[in-house]
Amino acid sequence: MIRTPLLAAGLMASTALAFPALAEQVNIYSHRQPELLQPLVDAFAAETGIEVNVAFVDKGMVERLVAEGDRSPADLVMTVDIARLGEVVAAGVTQPVTSEVLDANIPAGFRDPEGQWFGLTTRARIVYASRERVADGEVTSYEDLADPKWKGRICTRSFTSDYNVALTAAYMAHHGPEATKTWLEGVKANLAVKPSGNDRSQVKSIWAGECDISLGNTYYMGQMLSDPEQKDWADSVRIVFPEFEGGGTHMNISGVAMTKAAPHREAALKLMEWLASDEAQAIYAETNNEFPVEPGVKRSALVESWGEFTPDTLSLTEISGLRPDALRLIEEVDFDAGA
Ligand code: FE
Repeated sequence: MIRTPLLAAGLMASTALAFPALAEQVNIYSHRQPELLQPLVDAFAAETGIEVNVAFVDKGMVERLVAEGDRSPADLVMTVDIARLGEVVAAGVTQPVTSEVLDANIPAGFRDPEGQWFGLTTRARIVYASRERVADGEVTSYEDLADPKWKGRICTRSFTSDYNVALTAAYMAHHGPEATKTWLEGVKANLAVKPSGNDRSQVKSIWAGECDISLGNTYYMGQMLSDPEQKDWADSVRIVFPEFEGGGTHMNISGVAMTKAAPHREAALKLMEWLASDEAQAIYAETNNEFPVEPGVKRSALVESWGEFTPDTLSLTEISGLRPDALRLIEEVDFDAGA
């Protein structure tokens, strides 16, 4: 059995001793729901004998790592969204990793050229469309969401949320700031209700008839289908993969970075490389219905059922660089004041 103490968020550096001091171990600070990581951690521990401890850090990840400094017990940080990975790196609490295994298994667009972070899974930001009220082929591009034909028909969570800021940054990379501003104003004008809630509550709104389409990440379909209360919401929509004109469907990642302090560097690198292996990638694919970052690994049956699409090939480094500008535009058009 391995132990995985789930430390509550916001504990101070003095809780470092909550991780048992064993030679062969890896300590992870994770922003991800513990149940997503558990099957991976268990399989790695069973294969290697290396103990893995996961502390679920819901909020204040960066502050905590900065406060702990060289004394941090954490070897790895795991989180979702390029924004949060970028934030950890920008705080100077990670170290670069060079690994032939990671370079071979993770496509270049999904890892930092300097080796400061590595994507482990990808997710597409797609349109959930009402089965009843949206015809096949009615939505095809992100650009189209600003078309007046969608007036009063779009629901979304706040556009200042990480997922939507990344999407807006990708829009900027494709079309430049002027066109992005016009697009944001167009989408805002099409909102059915004021932005609120999360990706799943937008689908609930479609189910309730309040709007016809919403933006969301792909894996939420899997989460809704396995939740008795949310299954009806999921059944009321289908997934449409919009594309950027001249590009593909916007992708984001979940990923890992090694901390600067990393007391168990060697074991931590072993775990990173293992997470990019076929075996781990398959577990990821099944557990949360994300896309394996490694191109050769099979998708889950549910993900497979959504069909093929063309992922955008923008690098996440470029998207990450445009985030501040994207956020400024979203605030400038006062997007969240829409409807
Ligand atoms: Fe999410």
